[in-house]
Amino acid sequence: MSTASFHSLGCRLNQTEVASLAGAFQDKGYDVVEWGEPADVVVINTCSVTERGEAACRSAIRQALRRQPEAFVVVTGCYAQVGLEALRAIDGIDMIVGTEYKNKFTSFIDKPRKLKEPVVLHSNLIDDGDFEVPGTGLYHTTRANLKVQDGCDFFCSFCIIPFTRGRERSRDLTDLLREARELAARGYQELVLTGVNIGRYHQAGTSFADMIRKLEEIEELKRIRITSIEPTTIERSLVEHMARSDKLCDYLHIPIQSAQAPVLERMNRRYTPEEFKEFIDFVAATVPDIGLGTDIIVGFPGETDAMFEETYRYLEALPFAYFHVFSYSKRYGTKAARLDGHVGPDVIKARSQALRELSVAKRRAFASRYLGQDVEVLFEQQQDPSGLWTGLTSNYLRVGVVSSEPLRNTFRRVTLHEVTDELALGAIAARTTESSLTPA
Ligand code: SF4
Repeated sequence: MSTASFHSLGCRLNQTEVASLAGAFQDKGYDVVEWGEPADVVVINTCSVTERGEAACRSAIRQALRRQPEAFVVVTGCYAQVGLEALRAIDGIDMIVGTEYKNKFTSFIDKPRKLKEPVVLHSNLIDDGDFEVPGTGLYHTTRANLKVQDGCDFFCSFCIIPFTRGRERSRDLTDLLREARELAARGYQELVLTGVNIGRYHQAGTSFADMIRKLEEIEELKRIRITSIEPTTIERSLVEHMARSDKLCDYLHIPIQSAQAPVLERMNRRYTPEEFKEFIDFVAATVPDIGLGTDIIVGFPGETDAMFEETYRYLEALPFAYFHVFSYSKRYGTKAARLDGHVGPDVIKARSQALRELSVAKRRAFASRYLGQDVEVLFEQQQDPSGLWTGLTSNYLRVGVVSSEPLRNTFRRVTLHEVTDELALGAIAARTTESSLTPA
């Protein structure tokens, strides 16, 4: 039997796509092996979001070529779309697959042999129609991702994604529901919706909120989680639905990127700090237990010390449970790289550190609200060597318990008694729903 292995760099969407490609290869009769094990076909899904990310991709490709000189090596993903010439210069790649062909290339591979020159499947014109994914995702985790959307039309000035992934498009609803049912039947009780700008999902009259309601009808599915979603794309009625739903997780990650109006304007974002705050206040009032996260870019061109101080106070006051802090770095090919007012690296480092410390304090404060209370946890894995079982609540608290029971993929109520920087620690309170299903 032929073997195939897969590696993903970058974002959750890339991981989702690799899981789907692995599923497609398995359907073609391949044995999917761990990354690093000898394989006949090696697929690397690349990232191009920063120049450092691209360097990491080149290094991963070279390492794979060194370790497995006989393997048929496929390079796909964002870097394959915008870094074609750099990839052509790496000897040994057999296939370079741009965005347009990512969902289709598996059908072109049959009895692959090492080639002298790479086959290049690439187009600058990326189809903006609805799409289907190549296969049902193969995951080793207890949570599975579900790709619902791709591409973006927002063109934020710092972001390369609209150029690497193309214009926004939505996944065919029938294909999406088919995969969700298959994943649920395999034992995945929580699905995480992924895409680039998922709130823009729209397919044949079905909105993002409609699609979620259809997913909720799948009986075996117990949780549906929205990950990163643009603030201007969330319907208020969806937030109200979240408050009522027992399946849609009380969780949203809403990137703010900056809390300063002039910077937001230079970023080409579509809201003011006041509008963002008003929306967050509405969300927190509507879903009181919600776990809220955000992304913030530190040191964007034009960000002064005074602006940073104001940003710090603004974020401190909002009900976020955590932030992801990104230090701005120039990305060629973006409008932001050509702006004036670039901030020095030492200043960016100090500002980022201050916000990361604030995020840790926020995380602890959020978790501490639940001390002494029972929370429902879907357990995922046992950590090595501590033996601590960890899992997530609906509102994204990561909870740890010591237990001799096999907790993987089971729901348990846990009484919380301590909070660390990363975890809320507790003890099993009482047996609740227990899954008899085991994800592959
Ligand atoms: S919304 Fe902005 S940051 Fe997000 S993918 Fe689109 S252009 Fe990039």
